[in-house]
Amino acid sequence: MADLILTVNAGSSSLKFAVYEAAHNLTLKAKGQVSGLASGVEANLQIDVADARLFDGPIKADGHVEAFEEILKHGRELFSEDKVVGVGHRVVHGGITFDKPVVLTSEVIEELRSFEPLAPLHQPHNLASVDAAKAAFTEAIHVAGFDTAFHRTHPWVNDTFCLPRKWYDEGVRRYGFHGLSYDYITSWLREHRPDLASGRVVIAHLGNGASMCAVRDGKSVGSTMGFSALDGLPMGTRCGQIDPGVLLYMMDQKGMSAEQISDLLYKESGLKGLSGKTNDMRVLEASDEPACQQAIDYFVFRIRRELGGMSAVLGGLDGVIFCGGIGENSAFIRQRICEGMEWLGISLDENANAGNEIDISRGTVSVLAVPTNEEIVLARAAFDHLQ
Ligand code: ADP
Repeated sequence: MADLILTVNAGSSSLKFAVYEAAHNLTLKAKGQVSGLASGVEANLQIDVADARLFDGPIKADGHVEAFEEILKHGRELFSEDKVVGVGHRVVHGGITFDKPVVLTSEVIEELRSFEPLAPLHQPHNLASVDAAKAAFTEAIHVAGFDTAFHRTHPWVNDTFCLPRKWYDEGVRRYGFHGLSYDYITSWLREHRPDLASGRVVIAHLGNGASMCAVRDGKSVGSTMGFSALDGLPMGTRCGQIDPGVLLYMMDQKGMSAEQISDLLYKESGLKGLSGKTNDMRVLEASDEPACQQAIDYFVFRIRRELGGMSAVLGGLDGVIFCGGIGENSAFIRQRICEGMEWLGISLDENANAGNEIDISRGTVSVLAVPTNEEIVLARAAFDHLQ
């Protein structure tokens, strides 16, 4: 039986995994996820093997470690005869130290634990899953891929906040996130569109989490996300850019605690907060309620604003790449973002856009919709360390 590579992606309320053959073409053998973790609802496990559903049903799991054990139990036939030789772990925060994937030795894991205060909603889950996987696959090489690593090429002006310098030195910086997705898209460009890979592009990762990245010659020079994954674009339930004075008002005048404000900004804001209805873009698009349309207006407005700003930072624009659940699937949102952007060289081919084709442009700036693949970036990282 072939050797295997497993990828593990622990989100705040989910645990996704994928299994690949450990060979150069990294053939996908299975994938799945546990959803509904720590959300008050019953957790659910799905496992798909070669387009067929192997398992779909409720499981008993309160946390990521139990969820991982359930995956191993129900997917036993995936892991038993075959041998997992490498595990690629998504770790949100690599601090200022890690600018590429790294083997998870105990020293590295300790250092990553010290970043937990920087990403309290994600890093502890990531590391709990690392512990569980290391215990299950003792002979495998375990490699971390970071969401922050892709952005370590930010120039200083895009890395700092305008605070007294000691805060920068302490690590209060614009780390940027969604790096695995940006890494995948830039590698896709190298393979399929070398002209853009060496040019000035803006990548818009528009999913439930959303951010944009300005890339020059394959390197990140700016991101809408900053110290946390709250900044920049409005998201499903996160607020995006906000005047810090609003937070002071909430604390001083409304007596809100850090925890209450955190809940508000992470879980109750964004498309869900503005629409008063849902964080699901499909539902918003289908609704004719004014608040739902306004939530879309705000989402589109912020993306357009960032696109203009990033084009200025890049000194011009050669390409825009949409990815993520909304970016890959919503012709309507792509059209709303691009309308009236001819001044920048952006013009959409209506049919190509409606047909969800990859190249949807007819202006001088290439506009593409490219399905992202964060899992394969993790699998590649693990595979590269096996060589
Ligand atoms: P996550 O950040 O959790 O990985 P996804 O990248 O899966 O999220 O994106 C989820 C978002 O994509 C949801 O808002 C969903 O409504 C939206 N989406 C998925 N398909 C479509 C579609 N066909 N049209 C509009 N929005 C879509």
